[in-house]
Amino acid sequence: MHKEGGRRSGTGPAERSWWFEEALAAEGNVPDAPALHGRIEADIAIVGGGYTGLWTALSVRERDPGRSVVLIEASRCGAEASGKNGGKAHGYWTMLPGVAATLGDAGALAVARAGSRAQEGLRAFATAQGRDLWWREPGSIKVAASAAQELKIPPYLSTAERLGVPDSVSLLSAGEMQARCRSPVFRKALLFREGATVHPGRLARALRQEAMRVGVQLFEATPMQGLDAGAPNRIRTPQGEIIARQVVLATNTQLAARREIAPHVSVFSSYALITDAAPDQLGAVWPGDEGLSDLRMFVHYFRKTPDGRVLMGSGSGPIAFAGRDGALAMRFDRASAARAEAGLRRLLPGLDALGVASVWGGPIDIAADRLPFFRTLPGTTIHYGCGYSGHGVNPTYIGGQCLASLALGIKDDWTALPFCTRDLPRLPPEPFRYVGGNAIRWGILASEVAEEAERRPSPAARALAALPKLLGMRIGTR
Ligand SMILES: Cc1cc2nc3c(=O)[nH]c(=O)nc-3n(C[C@H](O)[C@H](O)[C@H](O)COP(=O)(O)OP(=O)(O)OC[C@H]3O[C@@H](n4cnc5c(N)ncnc54)[C@H](O)[C@@H]3O)c2cc1C
Repeated sequence: MHKEGGRRSGTGPAERSWWFEEALAAEGNVPDAPALHGRIEADIAIVGGGYTGLWTALSVRERDPGRSVVLIEASRCGAEASGKNGGKAHGYWTMLPGVAATLGDAGALAVARAGSRAQEGLRAFATAQGRDLWWREPGSIKVAASAAQELKIPPYLSTAERLGVPDSVSLLSAGEMQARCRSPVFRKALLFREGATVHPGRLARALRQEAMRVGVQLFEATPMQGLDAGAPNRIRTPQGEIIARQVVLATNTQLAARREIAPHVSVFSSYALITDAAPDQLGAVWPGDEGLSDLRMFVHYFRKTPDGRVLMGSGSGPIAFAGRDGALAMRFDRASAARAEAGLRRLLPGLDALGVASVWGGPIDIAADRLPFFRTLPGTTIHYGCGYSGHGVNPTYIGGQCLASLALGIKDDWTALPFCTRDLPRLPPEPFRYVGGNAIRWGILASEVAEEAERRPSPAARALAALPKLLGMRIGTR
C-alpha cells in the first residue's frame, strides 16, 4: 500500500471482505456453529452456507416445517461470494436485450417477473422489524462512460418497448445523470425502476440467524469431502457423515469442477474495494442513491453506503483453469484490484481524496449463456444451482425457491422457469477454454481501455474481442 497526495492507495487484496468483517462485528462476533461430529440423518441436506443454501433452507422450512434440514458450511456462513459482493440487488429488467436473445421474448419476461418476485422477497426480509441490512431501493442505473458505451444504450429502450414493458427503464440525459452523480466521463444513462442496494455481509448473516431460528441444523467448519449418491445419499465430512434422502449442492464456483456441470460454467473473478467514510464529500459529488454500473463488458459496478463510503468493483479478474476456483489469482490478483481502483479514480475524480479502506476479490461462476440454472443430477436426488454470472444477490432468492421445490418434489411456477428447463449451451473444453478465454479477455480489456481514452483499439485487440460474437457465444460478447 502507498500514499498518493495524502490518501491511501494501491491496497493489496485482503482475505476477507470489509462487509464480512463489519457484519460479524455488528452481530456481536457470535460464536460459529459447531462442526459436525458423528452421523446424523435428515430429510434434506444442504451443502454451502451462502445465499443459495440459506434461502433454500428457509424456503423448505417455510413450505414444509415437518422436513428436517441440515446445512453444512466449509468455513463460516457468508464468508465467500455472499459476503463479498457489491450488494447491488435487482432482477433481469436491466438485462432484457441479452436475456431475450437467449430465451426469447416470453422467456425473458418470465425470468424478469421472477426477479421482481425475488426483489419482493428480499425487501420483506431485509426490512423486517429488528433488521438493519442497509436496504435502499431507488432503482439502478447503467451509465455510458465513453462514446463506445453510449452506442449500447438504444437496444435496452427498444427491447423494453417491444416487450410491452417500456416503464421498466427510462433514458437519462447527460445533464440528468450529472444531477445524480457528477463525473466528467458520464454521458447518457439508463434508469431502471427496479434496483436496491443492501449490505451483503449483514444479509448473509441475517439469513444464517433466521435459518437457525426456524430449526435448520447448522454446522460450520464442516466441508463436504465426498458424496455417495443413493437412496438415501451419504455426505462425508472430516469427522462425520450425513444420511439424507435429498441433497442440495449450493457450493457456487466449486460446482464448476464437477464433471456434469463443467461443460456449462467457467470461473472468472471479480474484485471490489471500499473507501474510507466521507459522507460530506460524497453527498456533494453523488447526491443520488441508485446503484450504478458502466456499460463495459468487464463492468465497473459501484454504489454508496449509508455511512458515506463508495464501493467500486471491477468484474475483470482472471479466469480459472478447468473451473479450479482455489487458484490464488481468484482472490489475490493485484492487477485486478488495481483496476477497481483505477475505475474509482477515473469515474469519480471528484472523490479523489478518498482513501481505500480495503480491497478483496472472489471467484464468480459464469454460465455459457450468463444465466443461472437449477437442476437435479440425472438418476439421483441430488440438486444443485449455479451460473449466476456475477449477478446473484437477487437471483439466489430464485435459486432458493427452485431448489426447495426440487428437493420437496414439487412442480410449480419456480420449476417451470427457464432456469430449470432450458437446454444449457456448452463452453469449449479445456485447454481451449482457458487459452482462448485468456486471449479474448486480453482483447476485451485492451479494447475497453482504449475506448475509455476515446482511442481506436488496436486491430489485434479488436479481432480477439470480436471472436465470441463470431463464434455465436453468449459470454464475452460486448
Ligand atoms: C467481488 C464480487 C462482487 C459481486 N457483486 C455482485 C453484485 O453487486 N450483485 C450481484 O447480484 N451479485 C454480485 N456478485 C455475485 C454474488 O455474490 C454471487 O452470485 C452469490 O453470492 C452466490 O451465492 P452462493 O450462495 O451461490 O455462493 P457463496 O456465497 O459462494 O456460497 C457458497 C458456500 O459454499 C461453501 N462451500 C464450498 N464448498 C463446500 C464444501 N465442499 N462443503 C461445504 N461448504 C462448501 C463456501 O464456503 C461458501 O460459503 C459478486 C461476486 C463477487 C465475488
